Amino acid sequence: MPPLRFADISWPTAGRYWLTNARVPVCLLSEVPPTLLPADLEGVVGADLLIDNGKLARIVPSGRTRDEGIPRFDLGYRQVWPTLIDIHTHLDKGHTVERGPNIDGTFHNARLAAVADRPNWTAEDLHRRMDFGLRCAYAHGVSAIRSHIDTYDETLDRSWRVVREMREEWRGRIDLQAVSLCPIGLLEDEFGDRVAATVAKSGGLLGGVTRSSAGDHGGPLGNLDALLDRLFALAGRHDLDVDLHVDETHDPAAATLPYVARAAMRHGYKGRVVCGHCCSLAMQPLSEIDRTLDLLAEAEIAIVTLPTVNMYLQDRTKGRTPRWRGVTVVHEMLKRGIRVAAAGDNCRDSFYAYGDHDVVDTFRQAVRILHLDHPLGGAPALVGSSPALIGNFADHGRLAAGAPARFIVFNARTINEVVSRPQADRVIIERGARLYAEMPEYSELWEEQSAASELAATS
Ligand SMILES: [Zn+2]
Repeated sequence: MPPLRFADISWPTAGRYWLTNARVPVCLLSEVPPTLLPADLEGVVGADLLIDNGKLARIVPSGRTRDEGIPRFDLGYRQVWPTLIDIHTHLDKGHTVERGPNIDGTFHNARLAAVADRPNWTAEDLHRRMDFGLRCAYAHGVSAIRSHIDTYDETLDRSWRVVREMREEWRGRIDLQAVSLCPIGLLEDEFGDRVAATVAKSGGLLGGVTRSSAGDHGGPLGNLDALLDRLFALAGRHDLDVDLHVDETHDPAAATLPYVARAAMRHGYKGRVVCGHCCSLAMQPLSEIDRTLDLLAEAEIAIVTLPTVNMYLQDRTKGRTPRWRGVTVVHEMLKRGIRVAAAGDNCRDSFYAYGDHDVVDTFRQAVRILHLDHPLGGAPALVGSSPALIGNFADHGRLAAGAPARFIVFNARTINEVVSRPQADRVIIERGARLYAEMPEYSELWEEQSAASELAATS
């Protein structure tokens, strides 16, 4: 008999039970009772967790619970995290890597490949790929996702109808938010009114890319202030929050972030705007970075860094080894009190050839790419409590007494152990019960279904 993995052990089936000897990062607790402190050098505390009818009823220091006749399950000092949040994804592009490959891995050709594949996005195709992505995420312990949705004349009605369907189908398992995505210049005319109305009807956010509609990110458009005024006016009309793709390039001339911050303040949108990427900020002179960070802090703009995709797309030239990791100035932002989250972005498409909708993987790579370590203690917040606050995801990304008992239990005692191994050996708890969710098979996505069924028939 092969040895049991941690994930294979039997789990309590009672409605009410204690999980004892858990280890919990302080940064993932919504409140930190003083009795739980002090934390260890990784910012982790020992805790016993009372599960009661699907809720996390109590969080108390380890070893302080009396035997009250309630079943106890000893976790042996393993890490317990809340289920996590992927606050920047592209579920509608996901898993198109085979039929729409990026010929050289550059941003430029990623965009062209995505445009070329878009005619294939029937409602059935979108549903199949988005559902595949959501099932991957769910099995990994992701319970809240924000997805940007390519929103053009030909995709607006179809894609957003599928979004509304997916939100309903996944309600209670994954909290799904959607953001419209197109070059902001396209929102100038009547199309902008239709986009904002559709987004409002779908409970989404208004978004866009602050580059020109013709090409890659670069110097700000001459009429950028006017375009942003139009976007914020549309958002204000429907009371929509805003989430933009900003300056996703190495080119320091791409400096649209200050324009966004000033527009947010002009329109009374303090604290309601998220900007993703902001790569080129890292390539600008220190004095300019400082000025922009001041504006971000003043406008209370939250930043989402996409480290895996930035490292993949940025600084890529054929035959030349990359020198730059592609990420924005996360440490400097955190020091200013600017909210920052890390997220997965693209998954198996022309913008990023890899990925599995696993925020734990994003976290592990973010630690390495962004140096979110020494100490490690604050790093889990970037995929937990920070995106919970940024995206108003109640009951996700943080452990809170009274909230649904949704956890990831790692076969790891320390954050170092979480970061060091791929963490395939983890248990997901869904409202107090062990979740048995299978990763979907890639063969579901194959155009030729016969190959998959032949394999199934012979096994
Ligand atoms: Zn993106």
